[in-house]
Amino acid sequence: MIDPAIVLIAGAICAALAVGAWRAHILDEGGAISAFLIGFVTFAIPRDGWKWFVVLLVFLSISSYMTHYKYQAKRKKGFAQEKGGARGWPNVTANGVVAGLLALMIFFFPGDPIILAAFLGAVATANADTLATEIGLLNPSDPRLITDLRRVVPAGTSGGISILGELATLFGALVIGIVAGLLGMTADFGWPFAVLIATTMIAGFVGCSVDSIIGATVQGIYKCSICGKITENRRHCGASSIPLRGHRIIDNNVVNLLATISGAAFAALVLVFG
Ligand SMILES: [Zn+2]
Repeated sequence: MIDPAIVLIAGAICAALAVGAWRAHILDEGGAISAFLIGFVTFAIPRDGWKWFVVLLVFLSISSYMTHYKYQAKRKKGFAQEKGGARGWPNVTANGVVAGLLALMIFFFPGDPIILAAFLGAVATANADTLATEIGLLNPSDPRLITDLRRVVPAGTSGGISILGELATLFGALVIGIVAGLLGMTADFGWPFAVLIATTMIAGFVGCSVDSIIGATVQGIYKCSICGKITENRRHCGASSIPLRGHRIIDNNVVNLLATISGAAFAALVLVFG
């Protein structure tokens, strides 16, 4: 079933990338271990797992680039996060564990297109969310709340959406669909190219919309007691933030996890009922 040579190659490539990302301060120790495990399973378990791995790698590259870019811009403004913006295991797991578990599931259901669709839906959501968060900030006007479009909120507010952010969402999901299509994952599963692209794109959009809706309603939102900024972090400027609304437990990582589950579920449902 699983070729030992593939296991060795997957282990070597994932270990090299995880160590490289840790040394480049893209991931901290926990983040590197989490990324290694998710990457290894995705590479080693499915047939032609390297294709699944490349899809994951496209998302990881885009999000690492975005985080790093954001960190440089923040540092210039004096808002640098500790640890140089390196992602920890909660963040890596929140974005990648659904994809990893689906790659694991295909071991029990070899060649099941529903699982591939769900995998692409999860990665498309994570990628779309990353792009929307960063590119959405460039929208010329302030965003509006997804649950009440008449309400304008400050840029960066959880649950805020803008035209540019929504376009970035569609684009981020589209990229994952195109990569999967170019890798021939459509042919492997007997799908038309357009179906794969459309399903992946809409799944990413649905996942991100769930992200925004949770962000606008039950996510824990705080106000910094030092600089007065509205934030999703319990700590800001090195001090405890003041709770404004939402639940403590529903932080950004929980929201990302729920969003990727939603994107995966939507793509799977399209396959089941489509
Ligand atoms: Zn602050």
